[in-house]
Amino acid sequence: MIIIKTKEEIEILREGGKHLATVLYKVKEKVVPGISTKDLDIYAEKLIREMGDEPAFLNYRPEGADTPYPASLCVSVNNEVVHGIPSKNRILKEGDIIALDLGIRHKNLFTDMAITVPVGAVSGADLKLMQITEKALQVGIDAAIAGNTIGDISYAIESFIRPHKFGIVEVLSGHGVGRSIHEDPYIPNFGKKGKGAKLAPGMVIALEPMINLGTKNVTIDTDGYTFRTADGKNSAHFEHTILITENGPEILTKTL
Ligand code: MG
Repeated sequence: MIIIKTKEEIEILREGGKHLATVLYKVKEKVVPGISTKDLDIYAEKLIREMGDEPAFLNYRPEGADTPYPASLCVSVNNEVVHGIPSKNRILKEGDIIALDLGIRHKNLFTDMAITVPVGAVSGADLKLMQITEKALQVGIDAAIAGNTIGDISYAIESFIRPHKFGIVEVLSGHGVGRSIHEDPYIPNFGKKGKGAKLAPGMVIALEPMINLGTKNVTIDTDGYTFRTADGKNSAHFEHTILITENGPEILTKTL
């Protein structure tokens, strides 16, 4: 069931989205060669708690998972697609690209956001992958108009990506968010115009294209969380939490 948020909930989600974006952009500034992915996680959790919020992913157990997720931040390096577990032994180096995915609980309501950032200078192919993936997110947001359907968002993202011949990850998707970190509806990054539920004002959704330089196929590590490209080529991920309004989509995970 798709939950329509109340006016009061929307105000809290706006605040929470601002907090989340503020934290994530501060974490981004810490991304330099030599830092460990665990250092980024510790910093993210500290900033979240300083704002009076709670990390949404820490100890979260997704459906089907054997163990709860052990960190606040997901850090996915290079060919890791999503849900990389931070480690003090994973030291970033020049030329890496890393996806930072973070969710917070603010006054009991959830927002979700991800960015992929370069570590120092990166290859032209990786830069393009990041730029196109971020653009795909914007294209999806632009299609998130009341009266359109979920399929219209999926179709917009897919048809933007296709000419670039990148792999669109199919086993993971965007989702409703707010009272839980994952709610209905699920929003694939590929699909058909006009299919699925109709978007209505008050819906809050997280759009998150996950795009690979090569194959769309992914594997999961033995840690039960880390999704990785099947061909070892790099992957990028961008995500915003947005609100459907009568006047178009509103990005909630922004600093201003
Ligand atoms: Mg998400």
